[in-house]
Amino acid sequence: MTYPIGYRESYFKICIIGDGGVGKTSLRERLLGEDFESTYLLTIGADFATYETEIENQQFKFQIWDLAGQQRFNVVRSIYYRGSHGAILVFDQSRPESFSNLEEWKNEMYTHVGRKIPFIVLGNKSDLKNRIDQVALQEFIEKSENEFSFLNVPFTIPYLNTSARTSYNVEEAFTALAHTIRDFILATENRVI
Ligand code: GDP
Ligand code: MG
Repeated sequence: MTYPIGYRESYFKICIIGDGGVGKTSLRERLLGEDFESTYLLTIGADFATYETEIENQQFKFQIWDLAGQQRFNVVRSIYYRGSHGAILVFDQSRPESFSNLEEWKNEMYTHVGRKIPFIVLGNKSDLKNRIDQVALQEFIEKSENEFSFLNVPFTIPYLNTSARTSYNVEEAFTALAHTIRDFILATENRVI
């Protein structure tokens, strides 16, 4: 099942990716609370929750997927990524290797989704000591933006410092995601959603 990006209801499947322990589940819980219906978690090792936001009179319904624990089964990964419209790449600012691994996560995502989809990058745990290499971060963002050169318009990938502990920038991250997806659809399909 693949549906075109930005189909009528403006319903977007979003996957959150990054190393274990970077705070993916915490970020989602910050936004949505911990008590959402957990339907699939035990069965397939992934789950999703719905979040709605509005920017400039446009309603966005995000179906936010979260992959639990060990990502051992390829079938789970396929289900997880399939039909995604956008992604949130997360690393832990206190663990530089979680940043280095983002490239691999991104490649895996592109392989499973089968095309380049827009995403944002979050440096989570900003309440802890920030040891991330800002030059490497900038290079990663620029390199990723170059992958969207097929759009024929400049495409920006937002980066935000976040903290699931203090809520810092969590809502802002999802607003940035909405902007990014809207820009992407405008650039690829030349239409306003
Ligand atoms: P996931 O494996 O990526 O889903 O990571 P979790 O959301 O399960 O978080 C892993 C651990 O990091 C937990 O102990 C969280 O409480 C902690 N954590 C998550 N986000 C933050 C944050 O922004 N700051 C701090 N200090 N700890 C966090
Ligand atoms: Mg988790």
